[in-house]
Amino acid sequence: MNDQGDTIFSKIIRKEIPADIVYEDDLALAFRDISPQAPVHILVIPKQPIPMLADATDTDQALLGHLLLTAKAVAAQEGLTNGYRVVINTGEDGGQTVFHLHLHILGGRSLQWPPG
Ligand code: AMP
Repeated sequence: MNDQGDTIFSKIIRKEIPADIVYEDDLALAFRDISPQAPVHILVIPKQPIPMLADATDTDQALLGHLLLTAKAVAAQEGLTNGYRVVINTGEDGGQTVFHLHLHILGGRSLQWPPG
């Protein structure tokens, strides 16, 4: 099953499948990407299953801010003092493959711009 309320990330939140969790609080979870694209590649997700950024509403304002501040804290925890990138792939053209909102934190190497 892979509908809006039950992606693979929902299973990680419910601890039904393993993940390398690096941070957790009441609203958010952060874990290492299973297919890392940089020496540090961590996903920050809300526990609330918003499918993608395009589905967020004004009522999600505080949650979205919390996710960004969580990304900042996790990057610091990982020692990314020389910088990092935070990416939100959104929808088909954005390259999104898991339809549970997530922020990628990428760091530990010099990243190129623009992305492909
Ligand atoms: P996106 O393409 O932006 O939707 O990113 C989805 C990300 O989830 C990809 O980078 C995948 O490698 C990652 N991913 C998929 N399944 C898992 C999993 N079980 N544990 C950790 N990361 C995963």
